[in-house]
Amino acid sequence: MRRDQLKTADGKTVRVLHPGFASVEGGPDFRGAVIQIGDAAPRSGDVEIDLRVGGWRAHGHDRNPNFQNVLLHVVWKDARPMPNAPPVLPLSHSLDAPLGELELWLENESPRVLPENLRGQCCMVLRELDETRQSKILDSAARVRFQAKAGQFRARARHAGWEQALWEGLFRALGYKHNVWPMQNLAESRLRWANGANSAFVLQARLLGISGLLPAELTRAGKSADGYVRRLWDCWWREREGFSDCVLPRSVWKFHGLRPANHPQRRLALVAHWIASGNLVQKLECWCAAGLPDKSLLVSLCKIFEAERDEFWSWHWTFRSARLKKPQPLLGAARVTDLAVNVILPWLWTRAAEGKSEKLQRVIEHRYFAWPPAGDNSVLRLARQRLLGVGQSRALQSAAAQQGLIQITRDFCEHSNAVCENCRFPELVRGWSGRMAT
Ligand code: SF4
Repeated sequence: MRRDQLKTADGKTVRVLHPGFASVEGGPDFRGAVIQIGDAAPRSGDVEIDLRVGGWRAHGHDRNPNFQNVLLHVVWKDARPMPNAPPVLPLSHSLDAPLGELELWLENESPRVLPENLRGQCCMVLRELDETRQSKILDSAARVRFQAKAGQFRARARHAGWEQALWEGLFRALGYKHNVWPMQNLAESRLRWANGANSAFVLQARLLGISGLLPAELTRAGKSADGYVRRLWDCWWREREGFSDCVLPRSVWKFHGLRPANHPQRRLALVAHWIASGNLVQKLECWCAAGLPDKSLLVSLCKIFEAERDEFWSWHWTFRSARLKKPQPLLGAARVTDLAVNVILPWLWTRAAEGKSEKLQRVIEHRYFAWPPAGDNSVLRLARQRLLGVGQSRALQSAAAQQGLIQITRDFCEHSNAVCENCRFPELVRGWSGRMAT
């Protein structure tokens, strides 16, 4: 790409100071780019890529609030400036090699490692440290994250009680990042919808009804789904009047990019089993008090969160999916790890602190730092590349280290931009590494 010759459709020079980061969650194709157009000061924003300029309106970007930070609309050709739309950058005349050659180069280039010049300013400093020192920094950040989460549970428990604070944490964690709010909202009315429910099925009917996620029509999945939906409606029909003040509109839920296994309908079906069992909190307390070897931490917690076989959800990912050949668990080990590090351990720890049990606090801290790593995700992948300059890292062999890396991105990257403007983290690392060496 002849980057020194880029010009918008209306003839202004374009300097790409940083291309930003490929978006994996819908919205503009690249987030957080730093771009200078003409004589204006460089700005940080998003970049959308389309084949033609007409794509801006044809794809509805002009009406979509997710696209309001787009600084540049990159197109292949057919470039003319559009009124009330971001500046257009045509690319077809700016390639420095034939398309076929570029295609070959892209195929061979490892997409898992960012080029040196796009890494964060802390990358060089962190890479000078050996693994032990990198791990110490990540563990310190993980401790900050853990204590912040524990503090949130403590504050909520003062108003709502320990058990309610725990349920809200579990619901939020099952909502992932996109459905945290509606899940929190459902958790807040727990005492209403859980009252008098005598089975997981009744709880499923209530939760799916109140959440607005009960399908209005029969499904395409066949008899088993339709029979289940009919019975849910039979149950919800009789009760819905009494819950009309807490029903959520379906529009508050976000489904974009959601895997079927993580669909909120499936998560609510699982929660119904936990509540119906009536003893989840006691089981967690026993788990906390039991002497457990590190290697059985995850397995033992998975057992607690395992639901009994569900007549419908063990056999279907969603209302619309066909019946599976083999039953599937309602919660995988990766999600149990997320619950452990984000909810269970901080909640148990802050309860132990309130009860002045330092010994128990130490046990819980030990479990936090010994917990095996969670599954990979886009936040971790990008953070590894920007901060550590690697696709994989041995310093990230625990869930706590992963949490530490996420905390650094929250505390530093999210307050800076793609070119790390005004970020103090590299300077702090230099200071720590100097102190660790002495
Ligand atoms: S913003 Fe700060 S912490 Fe994030 S990559 Fe840049 S230098 Fe590192």
